[in-house]
Amino acid sequence: MTVPFKIDLAGRVAVVTGGGGVLCSQMARALAENGAKVAILDIKLEAAESVATALRADGFVAKGFAANVLERESLETAAAAVLAQFGPCDLLLNGAGGNHPKGTTTREWLEESDLNDPSLVTFFDLDPKGIEFVFNLNFLGTLMPSQVFARQMLGRKGCSIINVSSMNAFRPLTKIPAYSGAKAAVSNFTQWLAVHFSKVGIRVNALAPGFFLTNQNHQMLVDEATGAFTERARKIIDHTPMGRFGEAEELIGTLLWLACEPASSFVTGIVVPIDGGFSAYSGV
Ligand code: NAD
Repeated sequence: MTVPFKIDLAGRVAVVTGGGGVLCSQMARALAENGAKVAILDIKLEAAESVATALRADGFVAKGFAANVLERESLETAAAAVLAQFGPCDLLLNGAGGNHPKGTTTREWLEESDLNDPSLVTFFDLDPKGIEFVFNLNFLGTLMPSQVFARQMLGRKGCSIINVSSMNAFRPLTKIPAYSGAKAAVSNFTQWLAVHFSKVGIRVNALAPGFFLTNQNHQMLVDEATGAFTERARKIIDHTPMGRFGEAEELIGTLLWLACEPASSFVTGIVVPIDGGFSAYSGV
């Protein structure tokens, strides 16, 4: 599926964190196809560079940079390299994020008998280190790159930040309290930063993807042995009025709209669900 419109990002510099991953590599491609010079940042340089190499092979301008969104020095080093090679950042897509098994309960709700079963991770067993990992990656991992790259946006027109929130931010999903809370923080921060930056001309918005089958959630959604959808995957589809998982390309239209200053120049502080109707459906 290709988005049936083009926007003009010629000469603009887009920085995509987590750009080596499943969803953000597609978003990086869309930005490159619309003329942006794309800096793909990832903790895994190899993943970032492999996305950039594929883009360059198709004639686009892209480069991979190693950066840990949780280390200020690493971000500053990447920002200096992007500035030197491409110029100042016009668009920051904060895509790095994810969950961790240590922030996840085994069951959806607690039964008293669960406490006698050592094979289960109950609410009482959740490891604060796991919760901290997930909060840091999603929330601080959005805030810190914004601190570093928004400096390059000051005093320039048409710059914006796009964060990646999630369905969990609207209503928490069972089993994943850390990820749900962390993405709620990303949505809240999107609004906060939009207000904070409103006088310096930097728009801040977020995408809230519904359910997309990716590396990040494959284990939870597909039975390794049979390849069939798990009970959780079926439940998601039952609660998605459109009756299917999303395709990564279906994020692109909203991304380009928010990235395109003439198209969304008065839009800031919003979190856009891209979810086949999941957030609108009560299940009845
Ligand atoms: P992914 O795991 O494929 O990609 C995440 C990328 O981030 C990876 O390349 C990883 O190396 C990189 N990364 C991890 N830690 C990092 C760090 N400290 N510094 C820099 N880079 C780091 O995940 P994805 O499914 O493509 O998800 C992308 C974004 O979309 C995430 O924020 C995720 O939470 C969000 N999201 C995904 C879904 C979904 O259904 N997959 C739904 C809603 C939101």
